[in-house]
Amino acid sequence: MRIGFHISTAKGFAWTLREAGRLGCEVVQIFLKNPRAWTEKILTDSDVESFKDFSESVPVFAHLSYLPNIAKVDEDERHMRGFLHEIDLCKKLGIRAMVVHCGSRSQRDKGIRAASEAINRGLKESDIAVLLENSAGQGHGIGKNIAELFEIYQGISIKDRNRVSLCLDTAHLFASGYDIRVWEIWDALIKEVDSRFGPHKVGLFHLNDSKTDLDSKVDRHWHIGQGKIGLDAFKNIVNDLRFKNLMGVMETPKVDSMDEENMKTIRSLLSPLVSRSFS
Ligand SMILES: [Zn+2]
Ligand SMILES: [Zn+2]
Repeated sequence: MRIGFHISTAKGFAWTLREAGRLGCEVVQIFLKNPRAWTEKILTDSDVESFKDFSESVPVFAHLSYLPNIAKVDEDERHMRGFLHEIDLCKKLGIRAMVVHCGSRSQRDKGIRAASEAINRGLKESDIAVLLENSAGQGHGIGKNIAELFEIYQGISIKDRNRVSLCLDTAHLFASGYDIRVWEIWDALIKEVDSRFGPHKVGLFHLNDSKTDLDSKVDRHWHIGQGKIGLDAFKNIVNDLRFKNLMGVMETPKVDSMDEENMKTIRSLLSPLVSRSFS
């Protein structure tokens, strides 16, 4: 598995690229805009130019920012507009894939329908791929298990389903009740994905340890091996041969030199048979 980080773009794409190089990332995930504000991002020619250098050096995934809630696009037009704005930023930058949280809504069924509708719109207006991320099950979060993600998927136009896959976040899996420390549970989870969605439908991993307990429904990412999931589970996951061609992005807290530490830890788990050299 190729490993990288979510990295800030607040200081410009040239900085992000340098940081990715410094950390030895083989994949990078970014927000396309300030993730905590509705303000739309206006890309300059120089942004687009420096993004080109960036994306030619390392695969880049976008992550939908925090405010658009795709489970509520029928309730408040800001959600659809915000989502489509970020799809548009992907198009302008040449980004091929965006990870989306499925949103939250107390009326679950309406939320699922709205999320499918939003994704259909985004797929229609672009040729990018969308990765549905599983949620921790916090509050009314949609997508807390494979069955619920599949309900959203079933609402996607059949002709566009080839552009929809899953992003599995280990911390969210654990907090939502999947005890991925147990190999049989991990294996059954992956087999459930395959049997519902078909083969090759896991597109990306978010590799985060969890500060909170199994089934806590609370989303707190933690440093690899220092949380409740622990090193053995990560060792199984990053060496799972079914995913040898996939990438894993860490979204661990950015404190002190923990990025370097987390990278070192996760690389130490990779079997020499499948690990890749990087420059
Ligand atoms: Zn995540
Ligand atoms: Zn999370």
